[in-house]
Amino acid sequence: FFRALEGDGVYLNPEQLAAVRHTDGPALVLAGAGSGKTRVLTVRCAYLIHEHHVSPEQIMLLTFTRKAADEMSERLGRIPGISREAAGRVTAGTFHSVFLRLLRFRGNHETIITSERQKQVALKVLMKQQGLKDDYEPEVLLHELSNLKNCLQTIHDLPERTTQDKQKKSLLLAYEDWKAERQLIDFDDILVNAYQLLQTDDALREKMQRRFRYILCDEFQDTNPLQYQIVQLIAAPDNHLFCAGDDDQTIYSFNSADSAIMLNFTTDYPEAVRLPLLINYRSDARILGLANQVIAKNQYRHVKSLQAAGAPASLPVFLQPGSVQEEAEKVHQLIYELTAAGTSFQEIAILHRTANTARALFEELTFSEVPFTSYSQTETFYEQSYVKPVVDHLRLALNDDDEAALSGILPSLYIAKDTSVPNVTSDGLLQSLPLLPQLKAFQKTKVEKRVELIKKAASRAPEAAVKLIREPYEAYLTADGSGETTADQAMVRETLDELETSAKRFKTIAAFIEYIDELTRRTEMVRERSQSVTDGVKLMTIHKAKGLEFPVVIVLGASENLLPHHTALEACADRTYAQGAAGQARPSQQKLALEEERRLMYVAVTRAAKQLYVSSPAQVHGKPAGVSRFLLEAYQTTGATEADAPAKSEPVYETKERLVWDCANRNCHAWQQIKSEAEEEKQCPLCGSLMKKAVKEVPLRTANA
Ligand code: ATP
Ligand code: MG
Repeated sequence: FFRALEGDGVYLNPEQLAAVRHTDGPALVLAGAGSGKTRVLTVRCAYLIHEHHVSPEQIMLLTFTRKAADEMSERLGRIPGISREAAGRVTAGTFHSVFLRLLRFRGNHETIITSERQKQVALKVLMKQQGLKDDYEPEVLLHELSNLKNCLQTIHDLPERTTQDKQKKSLLLAYEDWKAERQLIDFDDILVNAYQLLQTDDALREKMQRRFRYILCDEFQDTNPLQYQIVQLIAAPDNHLFCAGDDDQTIYSFNSADSAIMLNFTTDYPEAVRLPLLINYRSDARILGLANQVIAKNQYRHVKSLQAAGAPASLPVFLQPGSVQEEAEKVHQLIYELTAAGTSFQEIAILHRTANTARALFEELTFSEVPFTSYSQTETFYEQSYVKPVVDHLRLALNDDDEAALSGILPSLYIAKDTSVPNVTSDGLLQSLPLLPQLKAFQKTKVEKRVELIKKAASRAPEAAVKLIREPYEAYLTADGSGETTADQAMVRETLDELETSAKRFKTIAAFIEYIDELTRRTEMVRERSQSVTDGVKLMTIHKAKGLEFPVVIVLGASENLLPHHTALEACADRTYAQGAAGQARPSQQKLALEEERRLMYVAVTRAAKQLYVSSPAQVHGKPAGVSRFLLEAYQTTGATEADAPAKSEPVYETKERLVWDCANRNCHAWQQIKSEAEEEKQCPLCGSLMKKAVKEVPLRTANA
């Protein structure tokens, strides 16, 4: 079997071999990034089937994100010695997909709520019914509920000390009823229901235990208590439970993931075999070197040795653009340079910390010819829930008859979005708003003030207008007062800062709105295009990239306040963590939050195989920002000098003047090289406008070459 594998180019080192050949009982592969954990898991599947005559149906292969699951299934299908047909019979997927199948098999046919918004709206309605108008932030409540469930608790476990406790509890119970009445469940319920079924239905549990004799679990560091319980139930009594993970890659703590589960595995299963893997086959030694330096600064970790398989060849390149806008332009250029040198678009992945971090690049690429797919952003920045109402204010400043925009600002005035505002004055609709008969006295003043504010904003430049408008709007968003929404407040602030940054580029509100509308139109086109083209540059959050690898990785926003994210830096320093690992002093909340950020940097860096670019914009959301401490620390450790600092090694482009087709639409940056002088007329492939001939400095080979 192994010789056949090698014949097909799948090699295993002695440690990997030992892991694959581990026979029965529990085992834990605790090893660093790129050391072959996923390879071991998939080969082990084939090995069990091929050498131990285990039927594929008896194997359950679990992981945590959908992309990782797809990658795993795909790898499984490629392993020689296991037919595609057999690979297809293995139960493989994310926890949610696998256990949803169990529920469906049991005849549970509830509909799954996939839209966060639907849940939030439901909670808002329930709040109203209970007379709690906007007292709680639905997002925060839902997150709390999710944590509760993932930590094996129920709403009944919540305290009832204060009135607030009681209100919250009854609200959450009403939410559960709301779902039940409509036969709805959310993602967490899939696992909760599966767990309850397995626990209460002995026959079913025993059937599952007999059926799934071998359980293999990847990315085990991100297990939460609920998932762990389920796995333990099914693995019993033989416990052929094979888990692989890396505590340095725990990045889902906010989803109740707890690497302590993995680190305590050998206590839960004293007979478990520990199988270390020591060599990283993915990344260039220079890239791995940086990754090792970054993660070494974490205090609360299981220290592992990890060495590169190959010789050092490629130095990570640091970019230090002045702003996120410049970052976007540089990365765009870099993509041209890379593709000119032979890299294909699909080999490039661009990773970012939050959706906001990629705003400028997303727009830059949308207006370019670079094929790309964004895995984290399906709508433009300006359509996001925090941003759209502010844009609607701007629209009204431009046109006080804009009905859609008017309904967009109503909620921030505590007026229902669907309220119809009849035009009772001869002026614009906006002027009729304070005359709405149903307004209460306090509302009337609020509305009058707002109308004045919008008029005032109309005479300002876009950035100043956003500054004016965001003030009452932000106050509305964070009017909770419960003190629990600090993270959300920070998110709102960050998002609106980014809106200001974007607005700064335009002289007039009209130009800004025109740009936003054009962007929306183009995003539609890009979306259609990317549904058919899968060979583009990939744009995704670091969270989504876990478990994946790419020849070229570009990490955006490696600056203070972005990575580490300001929410981590602001995390309350005096609250202590409830579950400090045994024997260790309890770390502060802030320290833990910071360590999670460092792990994010580690995950990002270790996704790169051949080339790594890390960009640290000097300005973030309009404010000056230093280079990420994670990079500075790493540089101090390596003793690298300023001269080595890759800020110097900015890409150099060889360009040449060429006659090109240039889009006549001034908002469109598309251009194409003229292939034949005979061409008379051409339509822009992006916006459809006419293109005109122009002389332009272009990289020596264009991206399409
Ligand atoms: P992560 O922690 O990021 O999930 P991992 O430990 O799962 O990483 P893999 O993705 O399995 O690592 O392996 C990393 C890369 O190294 C893959 O491209 C894999 O095919 C390759 N690889 C693994 N083992 C070997 C080996 N013995 N020889 C050559 N290449 C290998
Ligand atoms: Mg893996």
